[in-house]
Parts: sequence; structure tokens; C-alpha cells
Amino acid sequence: MPKIEIVKEEEHKIIFKLLDASPALVNSIRRAMKSLVPVLAIDYVDFYVNSSYFYDEMIAHRLAMLPIKTDLGRLKMREECSCEGVGCPSCQISFRLNVEGPKVVFAKDFVSDDPAIHFAFEDIPVLELFEGQQLMIEAVARLGIGKEHSKFQPVSACFYRIIPKIEINEKCDLCKSCISACPRNIFEEGNGEIIINSPENCSLCMECVKACELKALSVIETNDYLFVVEGTGALPVKDVLLKAISILKEKAENFNKLISEIDV
Ligand SMILES: [Zn+2]
Repeated sequence: MPKIEIVKEEEHKIIFKLLDASPALVNSIRRAMKSLVPVLAIDYVDFYVNSSYFYDEMIAHRLAMLPIKTDLGRLKMREECSCEGVGCPSCQISFRLNVEGPKVVFAKDFVSDDPAIHFAFEDIPVLELFEGQQLMIEAVARLGIGKEHSKFQPVSACFYRIIPKIEINEKCDLCKSCISACPRNIFEEGNGEIIINSPENCSLCMECVKACELKALSVIETNDYLFVVEGTGALPVKDVLLKAISILKEKAENFNKLISEIDV
């Protein structure tokens, strides 16, 4: 049975081990975290006044890249909303801005319809307005998934590597060539033997195996993986992981139901 062990957890970064999992499952979890977990992002912007040096499109693109704190219980996906995709307070949030230069416009200058929903990092500069310049806009955010557009990705980095099984047998004569060969400093000598530290740091470069003339050392691939995931700030990264797993479960159950309905 696959099992998750959290190694390190912060709001925007999580490191965990996924043990006893098939490569297909591991990759499904990675892809679900990147492309199936919904988050808010600016989707269109109405420009009433823009006398800044930036084109409307440049400002709209920049706003779409700003992560927004997302509460998945608060809003519905637009296609699942009772407004049938038109856009209403249940499926979208407006951010309004009316400022004049000279001023550096920050994410915190936008006024949200719902004070609980705001840009994740309020000190991100958006643009600079000079004397006599004005920007009056309304930016509308909605939920979406990374599969549709990368602005909806809840994670900025999501990767894994195999945790190998490293074994040293009785042929070892303590020549220490593995210690100097390993670029990740996994081996050290202690109590008259070679000690293996943190095999999860191994990159499977096999330099230690090549350096061991007596063939006393082996590095074997396993079904254990070390995941590193960094969030954009839209959702706590652990919530992204839990949501990704629940989405995969739902998809698998639907698929199972479809298969069982096949009439043969
Ligand atoms: Zn709606």
C-alpha cells in the first residue's frame, strides 16, 4: 500500500516521501498537483483609464501572474455555477484600482469585493505611475486549473526522485573510494565501516559503483520517492497535495464505474 511520510512542512514548501508506489501513481500525483487543483487567477481586466507607459495587455498579463489567496469552499468553478458561466459573486471576485501618479502600484493597492480574498503577496510591485498618469481598472478573478492555463497552477515547482537502496556487502575493504566519488557526500567512515547517510539525496549517478573495484557496493532503484513541492502562495502546499489525491480518487472511482458498466 502506498504511504506518505512528511519530511518537512512549511506553508509554501513541502517535502515528503511517497513509499511503495508505482511510477504511474507517483507521476499522476505530480500532474494532479500541477494541473488539476483549482486556484483563483485574474481572468479579464476592464480598463477605464490607462495613461501609464504600459499597454493594457501588459498590465493584464502581469496581474494574471499574481497569486491570489484561494478559499476553495468560498467560490465555485464558473461552469458549475448556477449563473451558467455568465459570472456572478458565487464564481468570481473583482479587484478594483483607481490611482494617480507619481506612485508605485503594489498588489495591496487593489480593493477586493471580498476582504478575505486578496493577493497572496501584497508587496509585489505591479507598475510605476509618473506625474499626471492615472490607472482606473477592474480586474476579475475566477477559479481555473493549470491544465487550462499556467496562471492557475497552485505550485511553482513539483518534482520527485527515487530513493534508492544502497547496500555494501562483506567484500568491502574500506578503501573509501566511494566516499570521494560521491558528489552528494552520502558516505562516511565510522566505527571501521562505511556509513550510508540520507540515501534520498542520491542522484543515481552511480559514481560510487564505478569507483568500487571490489564490486562491494550496489545502488538499487526502489518504489520509494522523495517529493519536493513549492507553492505559489494561492493555497497551503499541503492542501494542494490533499486536494490532488482526492481529485485522483474521484476520477478513479468514476473510471471504475464506467468500466463496470460495459456490457459484454
Ligand atoms: Zn456564477
